[in-house]
Amino acid sequence: MRTPAGKECPYFYGDYFRGRQQEECRLLQRSAPDQRWTADLCAACPVPDIARANSCEHQQLYASIKRNFPFLKRQVVVRAYCHKSQQEVNDPHIGCGQCHPNLEFIIGVESDPDPSA
Ligand code: SF4
Repeated sequence: MRTPAGKECPYFYGDYFRGRQQEECRLLQRSAPDQRWTADLCAACPVPDIARANSCEHQQLYASIKRNFPFLKRQVVVRAYCHKSQQEVNDPHIGCGQCHPNLEFIIGVESDPDPSA
């Protein structure tokens, strides 16, 4: 569903049916239920970009809200865990790398195995 910031996010829920105005972040609701979500958090949230870059079914995201300094805006901070490799994921955009190891390309002229055929 499209967030108030205009990006698709799999964790955003909005109910506008018959004048309702209910909006929720289901990721923050699940991982940090004591922290209050507000729509302005979506603007700088990394989750829509992570979801677009990596759709691995084994990667689980956890979000929390941080404010680095009292005069700065609150921000969503995300960490990721892979349930297949059972490790923290350094970059959730890429994943842990177990399912999709780096591909190796060999560039060169391939010789014909049987020239008589
Ligand atoms: S805060 Fe982030 S995860 Fe939550 S609904 Fe907004 S964009 Fe999605």
